[in-house]
Amino acid sequence: MSGIEALLSELQDIPAETDRALVRQKSRDFFWYSPVLKRQLDKLTAEAVVSPRSEDELARVLAACVRHRTPVTPRGAGTGNYGQAMPLCGGIVLDLSGLDRVLWAKPGVVRAQCGAKLGEIDAVTRASVGGELRFHPSTRRTATIGGFIAGGSSGIGSCTWGILREPGNILGLRLMTMEESPRVLELRGPDIQKANHAYGTNGIITEVEMPLAPAWTWVDLIAGFPTLEAAARFADGFTRQDGIVKKLVSVIDAPVPQRYFKAFEGVIPDGVAVVLLMVAEPFLDLVPGLLAAYGGTELYRRETEAADVPLYEYSWNHTTLQALKTDRSITYLQTLFPPPSHLAKVAEMAERFGDEVPMHLEFVKFGGEVCCFGLQLVRFTTEARLAEIIAAHEAAGCPIFNPHAFTLEEGGMKKVDTLQLAFKREADPHGLLNPGKMLAWENPDWTPRDGVHLFEAAG
Ligand code: FAD
Repeated sequence: MSGIEALLSELQDIPAETDRALVRQKSRDFFWYSPVLKRQLDKLTAEAVVSPRSEDELARVLAACVRHRTPVTPRGAGTGNYGQAMPLCGGIVLDLSGLDRVLWAKPGVVRAQCGAKLGEIDAVTRASVGGELRFHPSTRRTATIGGFIAGGSSGIGSCTWGILREPGNILGLRLMTMEESPRVLELRGPDIQKANHAYGTNGIITEVEMPLAPAWTWVDLIAGFPTLEAAARFADGFTRQDGIVKKLVSVIDAPVPQRYFKAFEGVIPDGVAVVLLMVAEPFLDLVPGLLAAYGGTELYRRETEAADVPLYEYSWNHTTLQALKTDRSITYLQTLFPPPSHLAKVAEMAERFGDEVPMHLEFVKFGGEVCCFGLQLVRFTTEARLAEIIAAHEAAGCPIFNPHAFTLEEGGMKKVDTLQLAFKREADPHGLLNPGKMLAWENPDWTPRDGVHLFEAAG
């Protein structure tokens, strides 16, 4: 009997899959957004997928994997876009989508199991307490809350609420350790950062407690501007309008929407840069005056829920996906344009790279200040050229949250996170959780050649 067969035989009635095609399917996320990760990770697959339906079953799976020293790669919906959920060392994919209950909601707070989908959490909290998650990734309709916390960072709503890392945006995490006898811990306050954005390398998040914002009727708007500069200046000014309740402020330069947003063919004139907005219905009267002040024109308006495809599925990392549907050579960057010189830096980089790196900006509140993240498209030619573009941004003071690297440290952190490393020693002493994703586990003295810790850069 192979090692994996022996492991599965101990799990008895817990659902497990070993069919090679199905296992390969669940061993993949959206790593292929990056040509570098596609080359590195495309052939990887786990040996089995195990799908516990309760915390008791999860504890049995983890204990058995510790006994057999089997690597475990947690998975929510597998929408991570830099290989976070790719099994580097075989073993099992731990499918957590069965732990999907919303446990309770009260005014301002919800608690859900890790595998609950973001859109489904919102549906429950809207109906029961008139609230919704403060922000969500553009994969709201498919992604899980556990996967968002372990693998994501920000999204639609971050123009008002900031990013997951900011205190108050996660209230509690229940987590199971990877030990002979798995323990259950509740992380609250600053301890939440031990497991937030740790790619599941130091514990399995089983439940999350999240703050809610008031649930509004949201309206999608597209506004057109004669230049990128005008669009960015409007977006910056609009994000600063604290009295106007909003959820999305995205800037996308021509020719991206004209060439890749097929659903809006004929809506967006040639050469126009657009701003995608989600605004709460009672505040719409204020939009035309603000647009006019910056030379903008409204091109499209529709209630978010009424659209077959909500506008947010053209924003954040979905902009790249829309482009990839037409042009497989497109890839992307994740850039911080730090305040207060973010608009000047955007202009500098747009001038320098032109249509090789078409501009896409998401305006956010970050560290209490308005700035923008760049999710620029890149017309990929070679890995060397991509590295040159990244280095040029960093040298110009625009840190890159590298989406072409699958480790925590080479992505956003740019340094060893000693809190997460210390917690891994405690919660996963055999190093079996998502092995290979935390460089510090093998090399606690790892240092980057260059780059700035994204989460500290605004401070
Ligand atoms: P997965 O991809 O399954 O997992 C993500 C990571 O978390 C992996 O490392 C996995 O091992 C780990 N993990 C999963 N569940 C658990 C658990 N319960 N306990 C411990 N570890 C766990 N991200 C953003 O932040 N903002 C965006 O706007 C955004 N837009 C996107 C658009 C597209 C088109 C795509 C492809 C991706 C986008 N992402 C975005 C990335 C991703 O969709 C989100 O971060 C999403 O929330 C991940 O959830 P998931 O359930 O798919 O997680």
